Amino acid sequence: MNENIGATPLVETQKLVKYFPVKGSQGQHVRAVDGISLAIAEGETLGLVGESGCGKTTLGRTMLRLYDPTSGSLFYRGEDITKVKMLAYRRKMQIIFQDPSASLDPRMTVGEIIGEPLDIHKLCSSKAEKRDRVSELLTIVGLNSEQANRYPHEFSGGQQQRIGIARALAVNPEFIVCDEPISALDVSIQSQIVNMLEDMQEDLKLTYLFISHDISVVRHISNRIGVMYLGKLVELATSNELNTNPMHPYTRNLLSAVPIPDPDKSRARSRELLQGDLPSPINPPSGCRFHTRCPLAKPECSQSEPEFTEHTPGHFAACHLI
Ligand code: SF4
Repeated sequence: MNENIGATPLVETQKLVKYFPVKGSQGQHVRAVDGISLAIAEGETLGLVGESGCGKTTLGRTMLRLYDPTSGSLFYRGEDITKVKMLAYRRKMQIIFQDPSASLDPRMTVGEIIGEPLDIHKLCSSKAEKRDRVSELLTIVGLNSEQANRYPHEFSGGQQQRIGIARALAVNPEFIVCDEPISALDVSIQSQIVNMLEDMQEDLKLTYLFISHDISVVRHISNRIGVMYLGKLVELATSNELNTNPMHPYTRNLLSAVPIPDPDKSRARSRELLQGDLPSPINPPSGCRFHTRCPLAKPECSQSEPEFTEHTPGHFAACHLI
């Protein structure tokens, strides 16, 4: 976890909304991201957790303008980039994908894959310079320059993810969305990739949005953690505060599923089981969206939406009972 965090936001969203039209419906939309405001400071890692389908990936991609926002605003270093042409910003903002094998073109060599963004952004003036830069990037991610002539299928899953990371680093980005970067990998190599991302952050002064469905992964790498439920941010706090003093019933549930190494403590802890499945984001529940599954729900919870408010310094949550 990086301790050298700047005071000013690098990336900021204000009431960001991303809806997708439902094909064949009459005006229905998947409300994937529904009014999210957050800021990520330079050098910070903001973890983003929540169940599959809660909108985390859509939020990350909308922050990169890979999707255009439906409404709301997006800022980079204080500049409004909600509607600007993105070419100048593409270099500064990159993404590492979940499934490395699907994100690497099998017909291209590793050197061509990593060299492609260098060509697109015209970052090398000669073939020799490009070859040297590809070698340097391979070294940064723990591979070697002889491997530039091989194809993705010749590498293990962990090595393929290293290639995806080298491709993201090629353009010297400042902000990287890490979208479940280790969940497709063997447990034995997950920590190697996390450690490498942490080292890279320190060496290259990177800022991360680290997306994961697994709060136990996110809490080790993140300075702060945001918890999403059905398109909304329901809690946001420093990693330490969220782990020791979770306020929202949904966050408490996510934490109660994390294994504890001490068997006595593990037995003493009760798991708050959620009822039912994640509701559809096409027609989310009224009031608090979590009320259909919340063990503490009161009648008012289905009628009015709780505000996302700061309860202690830097600790925000949206629940009527706090
Ligand atoms: Fe549960 Fe009500 Fe709080 Fe929502 S507002 S999390 S339903 S107690």
